[in-house]
Order: sequence, then C-alpha cells, then structure tokens
Amino acid sequence: MPNLLDGIKPTLLMGPGPSCVYDEVYAALAKPTIGHLDPYFIKIMDAVKDDLKAVLGTSNRLTMPMSGTGSSGMETCFVNLVEPGDKVLILTNGVFGKRMEDVAGRLGAEVDSIQFEWGTPVLPQEVEKKLKGQKYSIVAVVHAETSTGVRNPVQEVGDLVKAAGALYLVDCVTSLGGIPVRMDEWGADALYSGTQKCLSCPPGLAPLSFSDRAVEKLKARKSKVPNWYLDLTMIMNYWEGNTRAYHHTAPINMIYGLYAALRHLLEEGPDNAHARHRAAHEQLVSGLEKLGASMYVDKSCRLPMLNAVTIPQGLDDAGIRGRLLKEFDIEIGNGLGPLAGKIWRIGLMGHTARPENVDRLLKALTACMKQ
Ligand SMILES: *Cc1c(COP(=O)(O)O)cnc(C)c1O
Repeated sequence: MPNLLDGIKPTLLMGPGPSCVYDEVYAALAKPTIGHLDPYFIKIMDAVKDDLKAVLGTSNRLTMPMSGTGSSGMETCFVNLVEPGDKVLILTNGVFGKRMEDVAGRLGAEVDSIQFEWGTPVLPQEVEKKLKGQKYSIVAVVHAETSTGVRNPVQEVGDLVKAAGALYLVDCVTSLGGIPVRMDEWGADALYSGTQKCLSCPPGLAPLSFSDRAVEKLKARKSKVPNWYLDLTMIMNYWEGNTRAYHHTAPINMIYGLYAALRHLLEEGPDNAHARHRAAHEQLVSGLEKLGASMYVDKSCRLPMLNAVTIPQGLDDAGIRGRLLKEFDIEIGNGLGPLAGKIWRIGLMGHTARPENVDRLLKALTACMKQ
C-alpha cells in the first residue's frame, strides 16, 4: 500500500503560518505518549504553565494552553467572558478583528466596532473618543494583524481601556515570540496565542491567560459558559490545584511539542529572538527593494514576522506563488479580502526567520520575476 507520508517534501514555510518547526519540537512530538493524569505528565504541564507566564510577561495564575488552534483561544476568551447583552467593542483592521466580531456576535453580545483601513493601525485617539461616548464590558484588539502585517498600539489602547473600566482582550497569535508581549504591563485581562506562528510548533494549541479580573467576571456569570469544551471553570480543575480532574484528554504530545518550543525560546532569550526577527525583516525589505518591490505597510507599524509586499505591476500573483512552491519548495501567502491580488504575505516567523532562508527566497523570487 503506497504511503502518502513518504511523498511529503520539506517546505520552507514563509507564509502567514505554519512556520518551519524546530528539530527539538519534532523530537518532542515523537516521545512516548503517557497518560494525561500521569504524575510525570502533570510535571510537564506545570513547566509549560511557568514557561508560558515567562514568555507572556504575566504572573496570572490562570495561564495554560487550550486544546485547538489559535482560533480556539479566541473563542475561549469570548465564550467565557461574554454574557448575552454585554457590550463588546472590537477594534478591527483586518481578518482577525473581523473574526472577533463574528465570534462575539454569535454569543449574543452587543457588538460595536471601529473599522480602520486594512494596512493601517488602530488609532488610539479614535478609541478614546468611542470610549467617552459608551460603556463597554470588553474591548478587544489584535496585536499583530497577520492579514495585513500591521502592529497595533496595544499599550496605548490598554491605558485607555483601563481608564474606561472595561476588560481588555488581546490576540497575540502572531506576535508571541517575534515581538515583545507584555501582558501585565499592557493591563491585558485576556490574551491568547497559537503555536504555529513565531513559536515554530505545528498548529494545535492556543496558549491563553486570564487576569484575576477576568477570572472574577467568569466566576460572577449569571449563565453557564455556553460551550462545554472551552469552559474554563471546568478546565481550570485539570490545569490547577490538587484535584486534576479529567475534563477532556489533553493533546499530550502537542503539549510536549509546546514544552520544547518554549524552552527553545527561553534558551535563545526572547530579546535575542526578537532581534533575529528584526534582522531577517530588514534583510528581506532591502532585498525586495532591490527587486523593485515595495512594502505595503508604513515603516512605523510594520511587523517583522509578517511582511505585506505590494505585488509589482504586471506580475502574475498566483503564478509566481505556484512556481515558488513547485520549483523552489517555498510557500508564501496571498492577500486576503480587499488585499487579494494586491499583496503577498511573506512570513518570517520563529525558526523561519534566518538569513539563509531570506537569501533563498530572494534568489527564487528573482528567478520567478524575470520571466
Ligand atoms: C493565525 C491567527 C489566528 C487564528 O489561528 P488558527 O491557528 O488559524 O486558528 C488568530 N489571530 C491571528 C492574529 C492569527 O494570525
């Protein structure tokens, strides 16, 4: 019987995620599966919690990885914190802000939003005006908008949200590991991330953290959390304390993988990892400029790990992306929504963010753009 797995080609992953996976993470995934209540596994869980607190910049007790990809982290935040009729403000400048609006709306929240042009950042002065006019229970923003390559001013927005008394929810799926994440300094109350962006683990878990204020709001709910699988009131009993009660079977080997990825980040040092992302980004930008391609996003708010590049006039978007993958084993991303056909999204996430990878892409792009 032919084995399809034998046909998988190693691909240089330079899209919006997944990113290239560290060898240590692959090795971790292949370790023997043990029981999810085995005391040795609980030791690993505790280490993952501690390492997550370190990389998220938080001392929150409720910090752990949710089962499922980044979107399960998003859903967990909203499903636990929103009660029907709650006023929720979403600051939207791309696909993931839009997804937050959808998720919150499905829970019966009264969703309000401020829409910023895709490719531009959230403007704190607009947020300030909005917060003066209305009281919200939650304000949510995406730190690194992967659909456009924009970094949002999460600290400035956080100061405004705090002053307005709302809970502050931040998406750090793409930012974590690539640029500084400081949950407690920002005053964030709920934060989630993902494993397949700058942590360089396969997709499958969503690191998540809730502040004491967020936990209070959860405990004071009048109604049950409407989603059984993501209900933190039950999941806490597995991740914390002495009971370690079964809720759902933890994705054991994925947690090994995350453990290895977090160790990798902490051993390299987050500051060094951020500098490595910045250097790869600068190398890419200068190489692209030599090829006559320009960046879509203003320098002041560009992300290093997600580079939105204006597709030069006359080039065949899908054709070039197809050739990169087929002939060069390199994946880059397409534009989404209003940016479809206008930009490429070149990811320099985690293990991918290395000079030799940037060189390889620039050489391949040069070859593709000549024809
Ligand atoms: C990738 C991503 C998500 C969703 O994560 P999945 O792992 O695809 O579910 C959410 N927010 C941002 C900013 C992302 O980049």
